[in-house]
Amino acid sequence: MASNKRKTVLVAGGAGYIGTHTTVELIEAGYDVVIADNLSNADLSAVQGVERIVGRSVPFVQVDCCDLDALRQEVFEKYPFDSVIHFAAYKAVGESVAEPLKYFRNNLDSLLSVLTLMKEFEVHNLVFSSSATVYGQPDELPATEQTPRQRANSPYGLTKQMSEDMIQDTVAAIPFMRAIALRYFNPIGAHPSAWIGELPKGVPNNLVPFITQTAAGVRKELAIFGDDYATPDGSCLRDYIDVVDLARAHVVAVDRMVELPAEDDRQRYEIFNIGTGRPVSVLELVDLFERVNGVPVPHRIAARRPGDVEKIWAATDKANEVLGWRAERELGDTLRAAWAWEKRVRGLE
Ligand code: UDP
Repeated sequence: MASNKRKTVLVAGGAGYIGTHTTVELIEAGYDVVIADNLSNADLSAVQGVERIVGRSVPFVQVDCCDLDALRQEVFEKYPFDSVIHFAAYKAVGESVAEPLKYFRNNLDSLLSVLTLMKEFEVHNLVFSSSATVYGQPDELPATEQTPRQRANSPYGLTKQMSEDMIQDTVAAIPFMRAIALRYFNPIGAHPSAWIGELPKGVPNNLVPFITQTAAGVRKELAIFGDDYATPDGSCLRDYIDVVDLARAHVVAVDRMVELPAEDDRQRYEIFNIGTGRPVSVLELVDLFERVNGVPVPHRIAARRPGDVEKIWAATDKANEVLGWRAERELGDTLRAAWAWEKRVRGLE
């Protein structure tokens, strides 16, 4: 990025797992950041971890993005930014099935506030955290951005689909606005400094936090959800993307909107898959974690988890060619970083 600019980015949900890593990469790329987060699923220590890595303080506002007036008064009226990255959403698939209204209310309302205020304050650029969940189980793999979305298999997934559509229609109606939706595959790992990482509250739903907690002795045993899928070793295939690589994708998405004027309306709303393009099975991932870290992860085969797709991985050509972004970190290094973070959190070693 050109050195003469110190543009400010609002990172909504910036105290969370991907938000903290993205804030670090934005600041290291020369942006200023203001974080807005209600700390519903994050902790102020995460912001302190960011500050420790970047070596300076980062403006933080504790605010619920669903609260339109508070977001207006405490954030949009106070800080000069021209780009927003919107992470502020609930993300637990199982919980969303049990409490769909909570997910619709929170995830859609927070996006509505952000879009409303972007219009009001003439803020131009939005990066939205979408998810590969919008594809369901595609008929053909890898999934490209043109792969048809399928009926979401959870209210969480539905909020991602609905959010994408809300953004697309809003951008179409507001000529100064531009948006990029990033469809994340499976974000894992932690910052190499081990000052920030994933810190799920309660029992982890996701595979890698469950692995690291099992290795740390916090959980007795990892359940592998199914070994009878139509895959080489019978366990599910996913595309695991290092969280620092993923964070960099947000920076290049902001760069693109800041630096390159949209050539036409098609460029005002764009979608990119963010993954490695490489399928890895659950059993392979557990095995690699044990090998690179030299620590056992007790595990057993369990029943399939309802709602899981059998296999999905990304076609990353569009992000490679248009954004000039590609995943760089080796999976083994990512799993080392995940373990280093867990050990630091647990005070091990
Ligand atoms: N998984 C597992 N045991 C766990 C958590 C996850 O076997 O305790 C499997 C899950 O069935 C899926 C993969 O790990 O095949 C990734 O699951 P995760 O919840 O991390 O992400 P998802 O792909 O479901 O969004």
